[in-house]
Amino acid sequence: MSTDNGDNTTQAKGATGAASTALNEVGAGIQVPPNSVRVLKEYGVFDRFEEYVTRPKNIILRRYDTGVPLSTTPLDPDMTNAYGNPYLLIHRADYQKLLYQAALDLGIEYKNGCRIKEVDESTATVVLETGEKYTADLVVGADGIRSRVRDTAVVPEETVKPTPSSNCAYRATVSREEMLSDPAIAHLVTDVNSNCWIGYRRHVMAYPIRNGELYNIVMSHPGQASVGRWNEPGDVEEMKNHYKNFDPVVRQLLTHVKDVLKWVLADLPKLPRWVSQSGKVALIGDAAHAMLPYLAQGAAQAIEDGATLAQELDNCVSTSDIAKALQEFEKKRKRRAETIQAGAKKNGDIWHLPDGEEQEERDALMKARDGANPDQWSDRGFQQWLFGWNAFTNTFETKL
Ligand SMILES: Cc1cc2nc3c(=O)[nH]c(=O)nc-3n(C[C@H](O)[C@H](O)[C@H](O)COP(=O)(O)OP(=O)(O)OC[C@H]3O[C@@H](n4cnc5c(N)ncnc54)[C@H](O)[C@@H]3O)c2cc1C
Repeated sequence: MSTDNGDNTTQAKGATGAASTALNEVGAGIQVPPNSVRVLKEYGVFDRFEEYVTRPKNIILRRYDTGVPLSTTPLDPDMTNAYGNPYLLIHRADYQKLLYQAALDLGIEYKNGCRIKEVDESTATVVLETGEKYTADLVVGADGIRSRVRDTAVVPEETVKPTPSSNCAYRATVSREEMLSDPAIAHLVTDVNSNCWIGYRRHVMAYPIRNGELYNIVMSHPGQASVGRWNEPGDVEEMKNHYKNFDPVVRQLLTHVKDVLKWVLADLPKLPRWVSQSGKVALIGDAAHAMLPYLAQGAAQAIEDGATLAQELDNCVSTSDIAKALQEFEKKRKRRAETIQAGAKKNGDIWHLPDGEEQEERDALMKARDGANPDQWSDRGFQQWLFGWNAFTNTFETKL
């Protein structure tokens, strides 16, 4: 979109709009897997991340009530050895700030506080809620799970409804200082791992972020919140009640949580297409393939989308090549993102089994450590395809 707003309708390239009036990412962590680190490195922005990230040694899935490890997936240095890139943890605000700064350095113009009302796909014209119009050669809709770009330009025949899961998630952070002051939980910041306690319809995923300065906790549980809202306050006592039969380490950790944000967990059905009929509007990220967070891949897939799209656009000689480039982009990306979307849902079902025969079988398979693992994240075959992906060549690479 353009920021050149002379007569309210302009032709422009290289600018982007967002609904928020300022950068305002919530205070929570996000995992950055090797497949997205590959893109950050290729674009030469990875060095900026070094001082903000944490490198966990393992992802440890634990039994919810005892904390006994069920499955340990080594991450550092194993991911770098296997896939050439590390597995990282970062604060969302830092991630957003670093990417924003990198874009500014490239000369991208941002125009914040612009809510899109609709997009005319035949002319690639974005209409804001204020009535302002911007026309471009190409519109890329990265406007999240409740995308207006999708609903008005790419899949205009219906309003695509997100599928709310029966779960939502509380998010909270605790300072390193506070963690260290409590001997029952201090090990969680000194022994750096992603820990995930899994139980019936609930799990707690926790890891240090901001170079160890904060401890990030995600608590998935049955409940409802508003789809697309990232900052709804949750009730701390209600939150603790959800985990009252969890490992004493988790319960002790939760005594340090003073406030929580509540997010609904939802995904999208498979869309019929990601590119508008005119070939001038495309979707990326959650607008195209919002997924449940049980593979920690939603943002990683958005990063991959961006890389593949840029690669295809790079091949264009003139604007008449754009439609073909977008079709290629969709062809290369849609199936992979939808497979991961389905894998994430499946992982949630596997993590959230009730105690019983099926859960015992799952635990035995997880402990077998033979490469196959019911946890998609840890299953060797799926993991190679997931983390070894090169979004520039659309193939996976592994040294395993
Ligand atoms: C609990 C949880 C944990 C997660 N953990 C991970 C993880 O560890 N790793 C990972 O890779 N992913 C994770 N994800 C997924 C990740 O957060 C999302 O996939 C990612 O944020 C999607 O990015 P996006 O830019 O496509 O959409 P969003 O982050 O939703 O951004 C959409 C943007 O569009 C703007 N917008 C919306 N409507 C309009 C409009 N009408 N006009 C203009 N602008 C508009 C919004 O203001 C926003 O800035 C997690 C998700 C959840 C819920």
